[in-house]
Amino acid sequence: MDIQKLMDSLKGCPCGRKHETNIKAVEIGSGMLEKTADILRENGFPQKILVVADQNTLKAADGILDVLQQGGFQWELKLYEDLREANIVEVRALQELSKSVEGILSVGTGSLNDICRMAALHADKQFAIFATAPSMDGFASDTSPIIENKFKSTRPARQPGIIIADTRILAAAPNELKVAGFGDMIAKYVGIVDWKVSHLVTGEYYCENVANVTRTALKRIVSMADRVTQKDEETAGAIMEALVLTGLAMKLADSIRPASGTEHIISHFWEIKKLEQGLLSDFHGKKVGVATLCTTKIYKELAAKKNIVFVPEKLDWDEIYRAYGPNFTEDVKKLNSPTVTTETTPEIVEKHWEEICRIVEEELPSYEEMLALMKRTGAATTFADISVDEELGRLGVRFHPYMRHRMTLMRLIPMMRFERTADELLGE
Ligand SMILES: [Zn+2]
Ligand SMILES: [Zn+2]
Repeated sequence: MDIQKLMDSLKGCPCGRKHETNIKAVEIGSGMLEKTADILRENGFPQKILVVADQNTLKAADGILDVLQQGGFQWELKLYEDLREANIVEVRALQELSKSVEGILSVGTGSLNDICRMAALHADKQFAIFATAPSMDGFASDTSPIIENKFKSTRPARQPGIIIADTRILAAAPNELKVAGFGDMIAKYVGIVDWKVSHLVTGEYYCENVANVTRTALKRIVSMADRVTQKDEETAGAIMEALVLTGLAMKLADSIRPASGTEHIISHFWEIKKLEQGLLSDFHGKKVGVATLCTTKIYKELAAKKNIVFVPEKLDWDEIYRAYGPNFTEDVKKLNSPTVTTETTPEIVEKHWEEICRIVEEELPSYEEMLALMKRTGAATTFADISVDEELGRLGVRFHPYMRHRMTLMRLIPMMRFERTADELLGE
């Protein structure tokens, strides 16, 4: 993948921001496992490294330790049993472990990468990823969603300098993981809508060229919907590239906006509420896909409504705190002091409403199209598919905006006078 070409095309971007990346190399192809040591060395990765994996990912990348050894790398291994959540406790443990090395190589995806990424920043170590499944888009990002005290938030982290993926391994990844990657990608439709809406009503930074990096990757993935679950190296490689590109877009914009909108927050709400009960959630991209479907339905309904009256929001904070429960009330209070709509008056929203409706129209496929697209890949489409009960599902759809200080179209609903709440707009 030619990162340099992309970076060159963004030189002198009209948005006024200097787009930068730490990524030196993205090598996706057949047989990359055997070349791992060479790729790392050629890109200046240090020889003393901590390899972080779990039993599943190490098995998928079978032989990688030998390849490193033969390539002259001195590695220490931190092997988890089956790491399914990125907890701050693990970040700190990795920070400690990495004291004796100069670089961290994460072998895996998702939570494994997330803890390594943040540990690499805090311990100030070089960071590389050997990806084992195209399951989410965080590979190239410089933030990590991390759980602390059962609350999940997005933290600064280190973007990897090198990303390697062997398409033989990607193609052989479990279908569930590949479909999750697809779910994480179609969320970008909503992400771009929310980004543009926030740009309009809050003046938040927006770059059309970076948004286009996401749109291009999204288009590519959507065109492959029928082939996602095939054990085809070319498709798996192309999906991986698209996932890396959207992660990179976050770094280019210095914001999660190009890859994540209100649907990601909904998914995080479900996740923390389940975690509170000691329950593990389904894969990130799987939940995000379902949340994308819910959001699409609501946004399309909103944009089709006639004669919405815009009024100052009157939030029942006690009701909101109750929805989160005592464990999260303090976090929610902090994130809403002041709340993100403080400077967004109903007049501002009304002034831009026509434009907002146009954005929803242009950027977001219809609910039916989105549903059909997801069904073609075999993706999860209902609360039941992701083991979220109806009550929790709807609670998340209605109350998620308050767990972030981030403007989304969903967060503006309390300023619109009509008789239905967000979860009612979702329908039966
Ligand atoms: Zn720009
Ligand atoms: Zn995601």
